[in-house]
Amino acid sequence: MRRQLQTAKNRKAIKRLGCKERRIVHYWNHVISKRIVQFAEQTGATTIKLERLKGIRQMKRHWKRSDRNIHSWSFFDLEKKIQYKAEQKGLIVEYVDPYKTSQQCFRCGNVKRTNRRGSLFQCSCGYTKQADVNASFVISARPSIAG
Ligand SMILES: [Zn+2]
Repeated sequence: MRRQLQTAKNRKAIKRLGCKERRIVHYWNHVISKRIVQFAEQTGATTIKLERLKGIRQMKRHWKRSDRNIHSWSFFDLEKKIQYKAEQKGLIVEYVDPYKTSQQCFRCGNVKRTNRRGSLFQCSCGYTKQADVNASFVISARPSIAG
């Protein structure tokens, strides 16, 4: 739909769609961040670790001009919502280097692009996990960097 509107050069309609998209992102980010913080509370965690987003400062300037960065913006927004809700509950949010977190094996530390095949993570050491679960474990074990 977006692409169609763009080719039609209907700027007003694109702008409206941008607002609608933003509302949807706000809604889901609220739901997701709430669940993440709830999960942390339920499991007795004191810290939530997130991947440090790349180039977010440069992107900030372009948000008002364009909603092309809706994905980048939505992750940044999710990060802010997690931070805000975590602080309310007395939880700490820390950030880690995102470098190849989805390619690294949580068990042996081996980094290989072929370790990840779709939603499955499989290392030559025999470790097998759902890919996002492995990446989450890797993130949790990484040292925190300055926020
Ligand atoms: Zn391994």
